Amino acid sequence: MIPAPRRGWCPGLARPMPTGDGLLVRLHPPGGGLTAAQMRAVATAARAGGNGLVDVTARANLQIRGVTPESHAGLLAPLMAAGLGDRRHDGGPQRLTLSGPAHAALADAVEAAGLAVPGLPAKTLVVIEGPDLGFPDTEADLRLRVGPEGLWFGLAAAAGVAWHRAAALEPALTVLLRGLAASGARRMRGLESGQRYALVAAAGLMASDPPAAGLGLVPGLHAANRVQETRGLSSPRGRGEGDAPLAGGGASAIHQDRREGEGVVPEEPHPAPPPHHRVDPSGIDAPPRSVDCKVAGALSPQAGRGDARSPSHRSTAPLGSSDPAPPRSPGTTLLAAEFPFGRCDAALLDRLAGWSERHGDRRAWLTPSRGVVLAARDADHADRLLAEAGAAGLIVSGSDPRRAVAACPGAPACGSGSVPAQADAHRLAAALAGVIGPVRVHVSGCPKGCAHPGAADLTLVGMPGGAYGVVPGGSAGDPPARVLPFEDVLERLHSAEPDEWSGRFREPA
Ligand code: SF4
Repeated sequence: MIPAPRRGWCPGLARPMPTGDGLLVRLHPPGGGLTAAQMRAVATAARAGGNGLVDVTARANLQIRGVTPESHAGLLAPLMAAGLGDRRHDGGPQRLTLSGPAHAALADAVEAAGLAVPGLPAKTLVVIEGPDLGFPDTEADLRLRVGPEGLWFGLAAAAGVAWHRAAALEPALTVLLRGLAASGARRMRGLESGQRYALVAAAGLMASDPPAAGLGLVPGLHAANRVQETRGLSSPRGRGEGDAPLAGGGASAIHQDRREGEGVVPEEPHPAPPPHHRVDPSGIDAPPRSVDCKVAGALSPQAGRGDARSPSHRSTAPLGSSDPAPPRSPGTTLLAAEFPFGRCDAALLDRLAGWSERHGDRRAWLTPSRGVVLAARDADHADRLLAEAGAAGLIVSGSDPRRAVAACPGAPACGSGSVPAQADAHRLAAALAGVIGPVRVHVSGCPKGCAHPGAADLTLVGMPGGAYGVVPGGSAGDPPARVLPFEDVLERLHSAEPDEWSGRFREPA
């Protein structure tokens, strides 16, 4: 067994982490959303205070690399002024929510509620899903879906997700978050069934199937709010699936995974809500954007942004940005793109900011697939956005072989890495032409496995001396079946189909 380095180190803006290429500053954009001004602020900071490289993490955060103790001091003020400072100082989640373009106001409301709850576990995550975008593969403690008759809370449980309906965001959200914080559990799924029952009853929730959410977006163009209806069809704008993978094989697999993993937990009790929490069928019936405003307005003053008491565990930094997004038009088209192996840089961030202004709503949304979603104003802008993003090296097709490879920064960027994981990942992707993602091969600079915590068809782990420990069907912390030089790994990949990898990499050299 390869010993794994210590986990749990959570860097932020004020508390950077030493790595092989200097200090690493992690930024946690609220909801995963960035305005054009915030993208430029990060780009400027990465150039001025770092080495210009920016990682996009699997939790949709940004990391500025190559910061020095001297340059770090100069990053604090501009990034805090841009609304990207650390938000709490009690070890709780710097960013509580993950959402998409349609639910910015709701994400702000959830963030504000979370900041008022001391003692939340560090990895607590609330995912907000809508008809145009879901996050089926992201491990969340709570899922929120907005429908025509209310708001649905999905509580993570050991056997899936237990869905319940509420009339409004509050007081249910604060009750659930306070209950998790007080439970001592690190994740919602760690609660005992009885604890979850008590929490659901206290929050006044009623068991109910939720409205459907959108699929996890594969790279390409997606008609906003039409992802569900167009599943299995070619683009309504006449594209073939290869060009605009609205519903390629990956999307269908994701949908199947969600059905297997997220059914209403059958043994969960179904408490009736107290009378004052009973759902009013006529109470929430507006389109999602309007619902967002109602939900945000339903926050109690203690939980919302208007709270003047400012508990000591949280910062008084502004939430999000003061730059309001223009309204979405019916022709809005979402572009989902991914950063190859999660690597971005200052120049690319500047270009993203420019694209969002010229073609979209001056915003970009980071995704857990180490990618970004931009909302193009109409079909023409979407076409230009797609072309510019592809030319800049972003992954804009679901069949791009780089999607099949996950890689951490590796050496020399990370001091724990013994192999050039990024450079080797590019060569691996070239060798994997025709192999469709998501992740089939994971290149990890060390056994910590930052880029892909789970198992992959093939995991390559950097070993002292520069060779790779090869783990077929396992994760970076598992014992390797063989230790091979990278050239031997490439040779075996060239001569075997993916379903032969397990045997091929267990054979003697
Ligand atoms: S997995 Fe990669 S990024 Fe993470 S500690 Fe190891 S070498 Fe560094």
